[in-house]
Amino acid sequence: MTDSPTSLGSPDSPTRVLVLNSGSSSLKYQLLDMADASRLAVGLVERIGEADPRLVHTPRSGGKRERTGGFADHAAALAAVSEELAADGLGLDSPALAAFGHRVVHGGSRFGEPVVVDDGVEAEIERLVPLAPLHNPANLTGIRTARELRPDLPQVAVFDTAFHRTMPEYAARYAIDVATADEHLIRRYGFHGTSHAYVSRKCAALLGKDPADVNVIVLHLGNGASASAVAGGRCVDTSMGMTPLEGLVMGTRSGDIDPAVPLHLQRAAGMSVDETDELLNKRSGLTGLCGDNDMREILRRSDAGDQRARLAFDVYIHRLKKYIGAYAAVLGRVDAVAFTAGVGENAAAVREAAVAGLEPLGLSVDPERNTVRSDEPRIISQDGARVVVAVVPTDEELEIAQQTFALVGTENVRKNEIRTPLS
Ligand code: AMP
Repeated sequence: MTDSPTSLGSPDSPTRVLVLNSGSSSLKYQLLDMADASRLAVGLVERIGEADPRLVHTPRSGGKRERTGGFADHAAALAAVSEELAADGLGLDSPALAAFGHRVVHGGSRFGEPVVVDDGVEAEIERLVPLAPLHNPANLTGIRTARELRPDLPQVAVFDTAFHRTMPEYAARYAIDVATADEHLIRRYGFHGTSHAYVSRKCAALLGKDPADVNVIVLHLGNGASASAVAGGRCVDTSMGMTPLEGLVMGTRSGDIDPAVPLHLQRAAGMSVDETDELLNKRSGLTGLCGDNDMREILRRSDAGDQRARLAFDVYIHRLKKYIGAYAAVLGRVDAVAFTAGVGENAAAVREAAVAGLEPLGLSVDPERNTVRSDEPRIISQDGARVVVAVVPTDEELEIAQQTFALVGTENVRKNEIRTPLS
């Protein structure tokens, strides 16, 4: 995969991709033109099926527009999106549209690459619902809605788990009874894969190297957070597991925890399975530790002397450091550490604290470079440092569009090759 526009072989070939991220009551979208990787429009429909749904649409030309009401389901929401795009001359019936690219959270062990959705792929995504009960059904709704609207166009599923499929078996296995694990599809899948793929590749480009020649630790620190160890462009370990709950301390998720804790809560505190789930996913992490999940607020409180906020920050940083050290050991040689997502891109204090004391591993940040604000990928370690520390803004929608377009382009070329001898 490259960041340069891919040619479909003809100047009239369609080059637009509509990226859809369908949630249970929301639909996020971006229309990209892959001729120059530009964004033609972005938007969001929220509270679909609820009392006060809302669509916010922003075309490239600017001028944010809002609509309320009338979105009883995802089909109505997508129809409204289509109308908004048509008003900008970007209708979904346009021959310029090459494909839809759908974010799908769980691809299980089956999907290591993006795929064009057919009935079999839909059924497989459905089969994986027990692994992602909130996300996969919502993603499927988006796919089905788009297939109904444009049955003639390729609908490409891009999986959050796919980039991590290259993890060796010993990194993907939990040390539990193998037969039980296999029967219930229990293994480490990892998430945020499109971000880890994009950032590790961009980081190699920042170093002026081929991804195949670079070992990177990617730290995706947003409201959800995950780390990955990427060796020569391939993921060899990642911190999220069967679900996005494992690993780093997150906004509201605990990350790593003794597996006996939920058992204890159920036995000794009488908590139900759902209550335990809710505690670990929604009332833990930074929120659980100090009542706030926003790193800006935690830094502000901590600077003002608030001890709970300070402890939350320290727990967060301690876990992060442990993963950096672990992945340095997994990789053997580390060329770069890349910070990304809301916290990673914006919180200089987190970056500074995460590498403080790791000088023996070759890691440090230059205080001045670290505090420069920019939307561009940038190096924040000193020149000549053994390990480059970088900030690399992520772009999951662009990655989904690129993967979609590359697949559709390949399919088109293949079809042309088959057609040529017959025509
Ligand atoms: P994301 O999930 O990638 O959108 O990241 C969202 C999180 O990024 C928020 O919950 C904040 O904690 C964090 N964030 C955004 N901007 C800043 C900032 N300027 N400083 C610190 N944290 C930030």
